[in-house]
Amino acid sequence: MAALFHKVLIANRGEIALRVQRACREMGIPTVAVHSTADGEAMHVRLADESVCIGPPPARDSYLNAAAILSAAIITGADAIHPGYGFLSENAEFADMVEAHGLTFIGPTAAHIRMMGDKIAAKAAMAELGVPLVPGSDGEVASIEDARRIAAQIGYPVLVKAAAGGGGRGMKVAQDADGLEEAWRVARTEARAAFGNDAVYVEKYLDRPRHVELQVLADGAGGVVHFGERDCSLQRRHQKLLEEAGCPVLSAEQRARLGETATAALRQLGYRNAGTLEFLYQDGQFAFIEMNTRLQVEHPVTEMLCGVDLVREQIRLAAGEPLGYGQAEIGFTGHAIECRITAEDPETFAPTPGMVTAYHAPGGLGVRVDSALYAGYRVPPYYDSMVAKLIVHAPTRAQAIARLERSLAEFAVVGIKTTLPLHQRIVAAPSFQSGEYDIHWLERFMAGE
Ligand code: ADP
Repeated sequence: MAALFHKVLIANRGEIALRVQRACREMGIPTVAVHSTADGEAMHVRLADESVCIGPPPARDSYLNAAAILSAAIITGADAIHPGYGFLSENAEFADMVEAHGLTFIGPTAAHIRMMGDKIAAKAAMAELGVPLVPGSDGEVASIEDARRIAAQIGYPVLVKAAAGGGGRGMKVAQDADGLEEAWRVARTEARAAFGNDAVYVEKYLDRPRHVELQVLADGAGGVVHFGERDCSLQRRHQKLLEEAGCPVLSAEQRARLGETATAALRQLGYRNAGTLEFLYQDGQFAFIEMNTRLQVEHPVTEMLCGVDLVREQIRLAAGEPLGYGQAEIGFTGHAIECRITAEDPETFAPTPGMVTAYHAPGGLGVRVDSALYAGYRVPPYYDSMVAKLIVHAPTRAQAIARLERSLAEFAVVGIKTTLPLHQRIVAAPSFQSGEYDIHWLERFMAGE
């Protein structure tokens, strides 16, 4: 079989650049790595077929430098670009530029990236397609007077959220009418600074929801399937730390019903490639919050649960292949859990870049480590602090937890502090083991409650 692409440029770094490189290599597709001057010794560069330096350490000059990345693709003869997650992965202009230069963007259409990147537009589109939403304003809230009126209607507490938000930024809770003005002002200021867009909307702040998200793949020609849900409720400052598939409190019927609603909506939209619909789940009800039009950090738990290579599927779909299978062919086996391990102090979360003097990753049955670390590697201070993902898979949730405990105990990253000890504490907690947690559990747990 001829390779689907001649050569793929991977516009990312760290573990996700390696992840994509591995899928390409198994498909017989050569890859080009790009890197900043801070990353010359990075594993994704060392293992690449070819590499191109695209600029100085700050991400805006290198990994976000669309012109440098496109030039690298053109001079190396790449015919497709995989953006990974973060950086340019949800940048519709970049997707447009890639296609305008005759290359394939391995992801959804720029129009869908643009639509879902605006959370107000995304909610409107999903509501139209019959997907239930978190109660809130009907679109942008342009004045504090409107915010007051809407908040009074839906009832406090409320959340002021940035239309362009991401990574937990541009989101502020107002407990009551007195706190609304401050939440409104801070959310807008943060949104303007981080995203250059201060449009905000108001949502009911649910008091104890779980974050449950659905992985989908689509071919843009009617083929749409889901790979079940991930529970990502273990969060700090609205950022995920540990994810599991499936959700410990969801039944197979609930999964199927959620899947039907979501896939029907995406079929109508003509969506293609990978995507994730995020929901809050409380009192037996799902409510849509946003859609991510890319591969997610936590995709491996789904891969383990369903035995699918999501990156391979993304590449196939981007090359124009049909999905080639239906929902009935997707099975869910056992249980998978992922820990995001960061180069941070496990108590204060202060970043801890520096030299890794010794490194030992756990192994054995049902254990997967996605990481670009090695002994002698210096973690640079310029980028996201996640340095490894530990993923376990086992027949039952209880066995997965036992496997996770023993794998965390084997994992050694010497020379820098990491959040490994925090994950050990979480996994040993009876209230985590019971599966009865919500999005506020972790912060309460860390506060010693
Ligand atoms: P971002 O794009 O910044 O990640 P999301 O809309 O995905 O923002 O929300 C991130 C997290 O914030 C959710 O997983 C959830 O924990 C919390 N959150 C978002 N909306 C609400 C809400 N209406 N009520 C309670 N918590 C929420």
